[in-house]
Amino acid sequence: MTSPGSPPAAGSRQEAEGPFRPGSRRGGTLALLAAMWDGFCLRCPSCRRGPIYKSLLEMHPACPACGAPFERDNEGDFLGAMVTAYSLTVVFGAVLTVLLYVFTRLPIATQMLIVGGASLTFLLVFYRNLKGVWVAVLLALLRWMK
Ligand SMILES: [Zn+2]
Repeated sequence: MTSPGSPPAAGSRQEAEGPFRPGSRRGGTLALLAAMWDGFCLRCPSCRRGPIYKSLLEMHPACPACGAPFERDNEGDFLGAMVTAYSLTVVFGAVLTVLLYVFTRLPIATQMLIVGGASLTFLLVFYRNLKGVWVAVLLALLRWMK
């Protein structure tokens, strides 16, 4: 059994298992989380080598190393990227809310302002990374639908 962190084997093996993290168990939650982390780090969730972005804002349509698709001409994909970014920002805001409530004595209105500002900043600063997470989810969905 190959560990999830090991480098991909030969190209033929990759084709046999589809364009998504060769060597990992199919459908494993940990494999999906690892792939989402790869996406957050802006590297291809499938081969862990190819960069997702070709410039600051422009994505590669597919992985330059393994060919896994990063984008499709599909309206739903854009929505998926938005929902992924929104969901992760909400998780960030929820954690921050709990931390502020438990560890500070600030008035609620101040806490809400801090959480709102920090969440907006989080979304703007990490938007590329959050879109990378969506790439991992998209690849998992494509593999699952096969
Ligand atoms: Zn790749």
